[in-house]
Amino acid sequence: MAILVTGGAGYIGSHTVAELLEKGEEVVVVDNLQTGHRQAVLGGTFYQADIRDDEALSKIFKKHEIEAVIHFAANSLVGESVEKPLAYYDNNVYGSQKLMETMIQHGVKKIVFSSTAAVYGEPERVPIDEHDRTNPTNPYGDTKLAMEKMFRWGDAAYGLKSISLRYFNAAGAHPDGLIGEDHHPETHLIPVILQVPLGKREFISVFGEDYPTEDGTCIRDYIHVMDLANAHYLALQRLRAKEESGVYNLGNGQGFSVRQVIDVARRVTGHPIPDRVSPRRPGDPAVLVASSERAQEELGWKPQYADLEKIVDSAWQWFRRHPNGYRG
Ligand code: UDP
Repeated sequence: MAILVTGGAGYIGSHTVAELLEKGEEVVVVDNLQTGHRQAVLGGTFYQADIRDDEALSKIFKKHEIEAVIHFAANSLVGESVEKPLAYYDNNVYGSQKLMETMIQHGVKKIVFSSTAAVYGEPERVPIDEHDRTNPTNPYGDTKLAMEKMFRWGDAAYGLKSISLRYFNAAGAHPDGLIGEDHHPETHLIPVILQVPLGKREFISVFGEDYPTEDGTCIRDYIHVMDLANAHYLALQRLRAKEESGVYNLGNGQGFSVRQVIDVARRVTGHPIPDRVSPRRPGDPAVLVASSERAQEELGWKPQYADLEKIVDSAWQWFRRHPNGYRG
C-alpha cells in the first residue's frame, strides 16, 4: 500500500518524500506545482494535480491502494495571507475539505498534516505547549486552525484519524545536497539572509526592533527540515500502531532573535552581511518557541540537527551549490 503525499514537491514535502523512500515506503505524490518543483521529488509516482480537483484526486485514489495521506499542499506565507485571505481559505480549507471527502469515499482513514505555530498567535507563555490557547493573528494561522478542527470533527463523524504537526520555523536542507529550499519569492529569514553572501541582495532588512524582547527583534524556534521530515514518518507509525488522533508541536525548544540568526549566518558564511532596520511586518508575534515534549514522548522524536549553526550551515551548503535553486 502507498502513502499519498500532497504538496510533495514543496520544501518540507520533498524532504519528507525522501525520508519515506529511505524507510522503504511506497510513495505517491500529488502537487499542482504552483510553488513546488518537480525536480525536488526524488522518487515514487508523481501526479501534477490540484487537491481541489476532486475528479483528479479520485482517479489517483482508484489507481493506487492508499493507506494514509501526508498532507502538505497549502499556501504558507503570513504576509501574503494578510493581503489575499480568500486565496488561503480556498487552497487550505476548501482544498483540505475536498481531500477529506475523497479519503472518506475511498475508505482512507489516516492523515498526518502540516499545521503551524501560527495557530497560537501571540502566545500567553513560552515555551508553548499543545494545550495553550490558539488565537491566530493572521489568515494563514486561521486557515490551518480551521483545517485542524475540520479533521477533528472528521474523526468524530467518520473515524478519520489525524495527527496535526504544528511546525515552528523550518530551515536547512537535505545532507545529500540534492534538495533544499527554493521559494519564489523567498521571504523566510534564513534564506533571505543567505542571499546577501550569495550576492543577490545588499543587506538584510530586520522587520522591527521594538518588540518586547532582549534585543528588540522577534524570537523564533528554528527546526531542521530533516527533523520535520522524520517527525512525519514517526507520526505515520503512530497512526499505524494506535489509530488515535493527536496534535504535536515540532520545534527545538530554544528561541533565537532575528539579530542572533544574522550573527550565526555571519559566522557560518564568513561574510559581513549588513543589516537595516525596517518597520514591523504585519501579523508577526514577538516570540514563538515550542515545547516539543509531547512529540518526544509519544512519537519518540528527537531532533538530530538541533544546533542553529548546523541548520544555517546546511542551508548555506545547499544555496552555495544551487544559487538559483532548482533552475540550474
Ligand atoms: N524577518 C526579518 N527579515 C526578513 C525576513 C524575516 O526580520 O527579511 C523576521 C520576521 O519578521 C520574523 C522572523 O524573521 O520575525 C522569521 O520570519 P520567517 O518569515 O522566516 O518565518 P515566520 O516566523 O513568519 O514563519
